[in-house]
Amino acid sequence: MRELRLRALAKINLALDVLGKREDGYHDVRMVMQTLNIFDKLNIKVTKEPGIRIVTNLSYLPVNENNLVYKAAKLLVDEFEIKEGLDIDLYKYIPVAAGMAGGSSDAAAVIFAINKLFHLGLTLDRMMELGVKIGADVPYCLMRGTALAEGIGERLTRLPACPQCFVLIAKPPVNVSTKFVYGNLKVDELSSHPDVDGFIEAMAAGDFNGMANLMGNVLESVTIPAYPIIDQIKQFMMERGAVGAMMSGSGPTVFGLYTDLTAAKQTFYELKKSHMAAVVYLSDVYNVTY
Ligand code: ATP
Repeated sequence: MRELRLRALAKINLALDVLGKREDGYHDVRMVMQTLNIFDKLNIKVTKEPGIRIVTNLSYLPVNENNLVYKAAKLLVDEFEIKEGLDIDLYKYIPVAAGMAGGSSDAAAVIFAINKLFHLGLTLDRMMELGVKIGADVPYCLMRGTALAEGIGERLTRLPACPQCFVLIAKPPVNVSTKFVYGNLKVDELSSHPDVDGFIEAMAAGDFNGMANLMGNVLESVTIPAYPIIDQIKQFMMERGAVGAMMSGSGPTVFGLYTDLTAAKQTFYELKKSHMAAVVYLSDVYNVTY
């Protein structure tokens, strides 16, 4: 039987700047991306019967062409005229619509798997070219690790690895659509932009205080006023030993960077009890590539 089991890793943005809106409606961004040891699991099986069938543990997720897993599979099936079918089991653990690129990472895993299962011989660059047709974050989800993402997020430069630390993740009980956040962002009215280059320098030097001072996400200017709970969670983490705390992507997930595991664990348990967060995870930075 031809079958692959894969982990699709979640990401956070250690820094996120938006430079402007493009004519095609997308935004030009500069983002520092980091994968975490938090993942969805996929089990992908080749079948004689043609077609793409998806089963998932989340009843509210679509399993048709609206699922990014389906879109990625269909793209490759069509492009490479694959005659066999695919049975895909998708176990979601990455919070949905949370700013952690869960769907994009699932799509990346499917592209990687189909390349392997059908011996397509695609290079990473070619897989990334195909991936961007599904979503701007998909190329990064294929690359993984610490990276600078520019353009719409698809222009990637590998960075020196983020120094090891513990990453506390808390998603408040609200879902935020990426479209809503970018749609309401007023780039011209932003009072400041994060110093992404300074952040990268601090990170390369392993300077956590420098990183904490230079962390910034311009999308907080839209998501936090709509959901003040995000700021409350940031404060909660900062008062409990986080070196820095920020919203990831378009939110609402908040992450806190910790160098002290005891403080991170203590805050993890407190957040679990607090009802401020629907999902709480404790991870570390995770630089395993495909
Ligand atoms: P990003 O960080 O890239 O903005 P996100 O965390 O905000 O991503 P996702 O969890 O990837 O958002 O998904 C957002 C939307 O996409 C959801 O509303 C969901 O219905 C739809 N979707 C389609 N396929 C998937 C999938 N495999 N996993 C999660 N969501 C999916």
